[in-house]
Amino acid sequence: MPRRLEIACPVCQSPAKVIETRPTGVNAVYRRKECEKGHRFSTYEKVETEDFSKDVELATAANARAINALANRLHNLELSVDSLHSERAALAVEKQKLGFPNLT
Ligand SMILES: [Zn+2]
Repeated sequence: MPRRLEIACPVCQSPAKVIETRPTGVNAVYRRKECEKGHRFSTYEKVETEDFSKDVELATAANARAINALANRLHNLELSVDSLHSERAALAVEKQKLGFPNLT
């Protein structure tokens, strides 16, 4: 068994013993403690359940937004490339009309 981690006295860092324990709220415990040198302090222990479903939901939504943004950028790039190809073809036609050698 691993040794239980105890909270030391906040004044002198000595080990402290529990002098009173009482439940408080839901799934919570309040403990009064006293160290070897007579300093008294209290601790409050509360159960916290781990619920990752909200985190997963937020991460999924963020990923979806990032993917949509990338898809839009790619679409715009494709439009730009199409536009450049059209422009190049039109210029080639113009150059041919004017008697330039066709370099493409
Ligand atoms: Zn102390």
